[in-house]
Amino acid sequence: MPIDATLPYDDSNIFARILRGEIPATVVHEDEWAIAFNDIAPQAPVHILVIPRGPYVSWDDFSSHASPEEIAGFVRAIGQVARNHGLVAPGYRLLANIGVEAGQEVPHLHVHLFGGAPLGPMLV
Ligand code: ADP
Repeated sequence: MPIDATLPYDDSNIFARILRGEIPATVVHEDEWAIAFNDIAPQAPVHILVIPRGPYVSWDDFSSHASPEEIAGFVRAIGQVARNHGLVAPGYRLLANIGVEAGQEVPHLHVHLFGGAPLGPMLV
């Protein structure tokens, strides 16, 4: 069920639980600002989710409330993950769903990173 991106942060969500180490994930990157782990239902050969450590529901929440250091750290982490997976030369795609009409399911900001094969055109 898609979430309302205007709701307050609720730390019972599944990505908050991954951040706290309460449930397992295949973590591919960790730093002060972000962690990245493989999507449990990959839609491409490489499908990684990058999330900030801070409690932000969505890109809207993050872009309006995160500190400059958090924003820089998160953006740099996404780029680092792509480089670490050798995706810069072949190319890759970033996607963030925000709220109901985009179909955001997990109420902790996450950026999808897709790669590892030609991805085709975006449908929307
Ligand atoms: P959608 O499910 O419509 O893509 P989101 O943008 O909120 O909505 O993406 C949530 C993503 O989280 C999905 O790609 C889903 O496969 C992934 N996911 C859900 N639970 C886990 C989990 N425990 N570990 C890794 N990925 C997960």
